This record gives sequence, structure tokens and C-alpha cells, in this order.
Amino acid sequence: MTDTRSPDLRETVISLDMTGYVTDWSAGAENLFGYTRAEAVGQHVLFLYADEPGEGEGDMPELFLGQGGSTVKVRRRKKSGQVFWATLTLDLQHDVDGTQVGMVARLSDVFESLSPSDQLQLHASIIENSDQGILITDADERIVSVNAAFSQITGYSPNEAIGETIDLLGSGVHDADFRTQVRAAIAGSGPWHGEIVGKRKSGELFPQSVSISVVRNQAGEVTNAFSIFSDISVLRATENRMQRLVNYDNLTGLPNRNLFHQLVDQGLASAKRNSAYSAVMTINLKRFNSINDTLGHEVGDELLRQVSQRFRSLLRDEDVLARSGGDEFVAALFSIQKREHSGLVAQKLLAALAEPFLIASHVVHVGARIGISVFPEDGQDTAALLQYSDVAVKRVQPDVEPGYLFFSPEMNQRAKERWQLEGELRHALTVPELLLFYQPKVSLRTGKIIGAEALVRWKHPQNGMVSPGKFIPVAEETGLILEIGNWVLEEACRQIKVWADAGLNMPPVAVNLSARQFDKLLPTRMVATLERHQVPANKLKLEITESLLVRGADKVTPIMNELVAMGLALAMDDFGTGYSSLAYLKKFPITTLKIDRSFVIGVPGDENDCAIAQAIVTMGRQLRQEIVAEGIETVEQMVFLKGLGCDQLQGYLFSPPVPVAEFEKMVAEDRRLKFD
Ligand code: C2E
Ligand code: CA
Repeated sequence: MTDTRSPDLRETVISLDMTGYVTDWSAGAENLFGYTRAEAVGQHVLFLYADEPGEGEGDMPELFLGQGGSTVKVRRRKKSGQVFWATLTLDLQHDVDGTQVGMVARLSDVFESLSPSDQLQLHASIIENSDQGILITDADERIVSVNAAFSQITGYSPNEAIGETIDLLGSGVHDADFRTQVRAAIAGSGPWHGEIVGKRKSGELFPQSVSISVVRNQAGEVTNAFSIFSDISVLRATENRMQRLVNYDNLTGLPNRNLFHQLVDQGLASAKRNSAYSAVMTINLKRFNSINDTLGHEVGDELLRQVSQRFRSLLRDEDVLARSGGDEFVAALFSIQKREHSGLVAQKLLAALAEPFLIASHVVHVGARIGISVFPEDGQDTAALLQYSDVAVKRVQPDVEPGYLFFSPEMNQRAKERWQLEGELRHALTVPELLLFYQPKVSLRTGKIIGAEALVRWKHPQNGMVSPGKFIPVAEETGLILEIGNWVLEEACRQIKVWADAGLNMPPVAVNLSARQFDKLLPTRMVATLERHQVPANKLKLEITESLLVRGADKVTPIMNELVAMGLALAMDDFGTGYSSLAYLKKFPITTLKIDRSFVIGVPGDENDCAIAQAIVTMGRQLRQEIVAEGIETVEQMVFLKGLGCDQLQGYLFSPPVPVAEFEKMVAEDRRLKFD
């Protein structure tokens, strides 16, 4: 019977004559063996045999001759020399008379399982050739085997590594917790994957991605642990580079607009939680293009770098500064106390450009204009705030002071008033338009004047007397308070000396000190001032506020102690409004507490105010401090506070702050407080 199966292209079909010569060779045979039809036809089939016959192959002719067809497993050799296992089916072919004319062999290769020794050898060679570092330890955590990649990554040869513990690669950067986890994995707590910083033989640290697993014996005990690791420093470096490209400006190293958005989103989220103000600024450099064109791009680039450095050094760490393109920077300030403060920062940034830049022997002047939008008034999110600061910056007129504008007209009005006030205040210091008023303090025991507080006044040429409530905050913010504070001290000392020279017996004068004046050099300055005016320290007292104490006791206590050692008495002003606690008070060498006027207003009507006033007096008496009740306007208030045990009174009930001549008169007349 003739075989009618048509050989599939992929099927390996070999036709043979009865003596074993190849008469036909299918495409599948070409594929499997690698010989072309022309090479195979005419050859004896033995050329495909491997050296050793497969199982049962010796018997094959008998088998198929006897049974007319059979399947056996055989070993054959490809043109490449590779030996493989295949299943072989042989069918006889007959002609029409039934005479055997040939054979058809069909082969398909079979998966070959490895002998145990081949398997071992293969595993060993996989380990050796792996591009991941492999390190095998024994139960004592000693290294027993490493592969070539291990040596390549770490720099240790097998000889140097084997016998050492895994501490050989320890970088020392991981904390105890992390090391415990890794050790537990090595001891068999379960497979572990993670990133570890390792140390190469050269000492260089490198990040590696590691998997740790263990091998157990039949009893379940850990006999070995192995870690497979790859050096991911290149990956990290690429990631970092990508990160930089996406988020940072190449030229200045500042964040770009993209990262700015992210950072401001975060900052605004926390500002929302704290109900704080924030501000966004667009800063445009002026004349940058002409500098670029006339002096060249290199000078332009260097200028941008230097400008960014000046700006960055002025801002606080938590503020964000970014370069958003060309000659434009953007900045964001978070958790600002007052919206106006952003205007002060803008002023500082503009002032930072006043000094020219020295670049490649060129002296370069550059200016800027700034637009400010304020969160939450102007916008709730980064995009809106940026849009409005962009609008604001375009409205800044060239060469019109102060060079910045808010988005909101109301803020601009306020900024303008402040700007004016600041200018006038500077002027007031030089003219001088400032003067001191004196408000007497009287004893609640005798009714006698026993002191005075010096309070600054500003005699404005147009506006008349400006109250310190209006200009002291501006002075605090602009730093002018330092000059004003000095002026006040000088003036008070000068006055005390005038009284002494005139033979007047005047009580001591207290001056208010701003927290800004309270620095390490204050005691030295005080000594100099007292000496210059020949004023004994007991004629001067200093009033300080609680806001000073937030700086931390360790910073302010030594300064206070120095002042007290000089003989100056310290009074705590506005007591009860801020951070005061008994614990604080005990630490500081304070002799006087001034109960804030806000508690005095409510006594004796308001229960709460009464309770607070009473608590303050009790506390003060325990600490043996003198207690002054400030802002007493009525007899009822006086009676109540005297009853609590206050020592002194200061307030309109006795006298408002008055010019020096009037104060002198009161003392000369020995004017007294009446108790009924
Ligand atoms: P302060 O230190 O709490 O001064 C007491 C303020 O209460 C003074 O206001 C005074 O005029 C006012 N006052 C006194 N008795 C009464 C009263 O019975 N009723 C009412 N309604 N008010 C009374 P002034 O002079 O306007 O000063 C305001 C604040 O300005 C001061 O508060 C102080 O914090 C600051 N200040 C004034 N002069 C100076 C100064 O020379 N240096 C510094 N750093 N701050 C100053
Ligand atoms: Ca005061």
C-alpha cells in the first residue's frame, strides 16, 4: 500500500530506498538537520546517525520488517554537529504489485532531559556566567562561593572573598533595623528582596538590587544562603539625570517651572491646613536681552547664574525659587504672617540687584520688576497664582519705585502707604521728628509716682502726632526699629542726664525694647550708652515682650543675665498675651510683670479677665515679682487690682503719656493717685 499522507512542510520526512540511501528530503528535514536537499539526497542515511545508537535502534530493521512499521527513540546528528534525541517512525513503501520499494522515515526531535552530572555542570556554568553577582554563604554566614560577576562588581577575587563574612561588603549606611532584616533573611526567615548599599573593594559605595534566599537540608536546617544582586548605580545615575532634566534648569540648577508647580502645590496644601498666607512672585529681569546681545551669551548665562545665587541666598530655605524661562524667575513664600511681608521680600530681591555684577571683566548692571499674587485672596492654586503674578509684573512701570506690584489693587494701596510711611520714617530719624512722651507709674500703696515709661512719638509735619501703633509695626518689619530703638535709648539717657544735671530727683525710666534689638551685642551697646551719658544703671529699666521668648531660653537667658548683672531691671511687657508660662518665668531674671491691658479692660465685670488677672498676680507674687497693672482707666479697675495685690498702676486714670515738661511738673508737685 502506498503512503498517501502528504508531508507537511515542517514535518521531517526522509524517503529512503531499500538499502538506506536517501531518495527524498523534505523542507522539514532541511530545517531540522541543516542539510539542503541537494546535500542529503544520494547519501546513505547513516550520515545522520550519532556515534552511539539510541535505545532499541540496533533492532530496528528487524522490527519494522517484522511488523511493517514502528516508532523508536533515536539519536541523530545535525550538520552543526549537535546531537539530539528524536522519535522515528518508519513506514515501508510498496509499489502497485505490493513489492517493497523503499522506506519513509518521519522524525520529530524530543526534549532531552539532562543527566545529573550534565545538570550540575550546567547549573555551575549558569551561575558563573550570570551577569548578576552571586554570593553563597554557609550556615555561619561565611562566603563559600562567588561568581565572576561578583568579582567584577565588588572588585574582590574569589580568593579574597571566600572565607570572609558578608561584612566584607558592609557599607555602614544602613540602620540596625535594616541589618536585622537582612540577617534574618540569611538565617532563613523567608526570601528577601530589596536595595542595599554595598561597598566595593575600592571603598566606593554602590546601590545594589538584591534577592536573598536559603537552601535547607533534609532536616530543614539552613545550610546555605545565597544572594543574587545587580549593581544599579548606573540606573540610579540615569534616573537622577532624568530627574534633573525633567525638573531642574540646567543653567542655574534651580527648579524649573514644572518642579515649581509641584513644590508650590505642596506648600499651598500645608498653608491651607494652617490657614496661613502665601505669595507667588514673577520676577522679570530688565535689560537682560540687550546685555545678552551686546556682551554675548556667555556673559548672559553667567549673569543668570549669579542673579539666581543672590536671590537664593536672600530667601529662606523653605521658600521656593525657580527659573521659569529666559530672563524670568518665579518665587513662592509660604506661611507668611502678613500679606504685606511678600512686598518686603520683593523689595529685598530688588535691592540685591543694586550692586553690579562683575562678569569676565565686565561690570554688569541689571534690574528687575516683580509681580506678586497672594494666597488665598488672589487665587487658590498654583496655576491661578502664577497667572496673576504674571499679570501683575506686566503692570510694573519701568523706573517707577518700588519696582513691584501686587495683583490686587487693595494690596497695592496698602503697599503704597507703607512705602511712603517707611520713607517718611527714615526721614523722621534724621530730622528728627521723633520725641519721647512719659507715662507715670504710681505706687498702689502710697499713690506716689515711682517711675515712668518712655513712649516714642512721631511728630509728622503734615499728619500731626502719629501713634506708635501705626509706625512701630512697619519699623519692625523693615528693620528701622533698630535705628528707632537706638534713638529712644539715646534720648532717654540724654534726658535722665539732663535731669541729674539740673538736680531734679526723677524716678527711673523704662524703655521698650524690640525683640530685634535683643541680640548678643545688646549688653555691650547698653554699657556704652550708659557710660556715654553718665547714667547709672538703676535709673533705666527695660521692657521686653514675650515674643522674645519663642527664640528659646538658651539664646535669650545669657543676654538677660548680662543686662541684670549690669544693674538693669527687666520688665515683662504685655504679660499674659503670649507664650508665658510659669516654667518660662522661673528661668528668666525678670523683676517686673506688666499685666496686659486686654485683661485690665474687663475687670471687675468680666469673670474670665478677673480670673486671669488673679492668676497672674498670684504667680507673680510667688516669684516675688513686682506687678504693674497697665491701662487702668477707671477707679473700679484700680480698686479691684489693688485688692488682688498689684504693686503699681499705669494708665489714663492717673495720666496718659505726656511731654517731658509736663512729667517733670507732676513729679515736682508730687502729684499722687487718690484712692477714693
Ligand atoms: P506698650 O508698651 O504696651 O505701651 C503701653 C501703651 O498703652 C501706650 O500706647 C500707652 O499710651 C497706652 N496706654 C497707657 N495707659 C492707657 C490707658 O489707660 N488706656 C489706653 N487705652 N491706653 C493706655 P502707645 O504709646 O501708643 O504705644 C503703643 C505701643 O507701641 C507700646 O505698647 C509699645 O509696644 C510700642 N512702643 C511705644 N514706644 C516704643 C519704643 O520706644 N520702642 C518700642 N520698641 N516700642 C514702642
Ligand atoms: Ca511697654
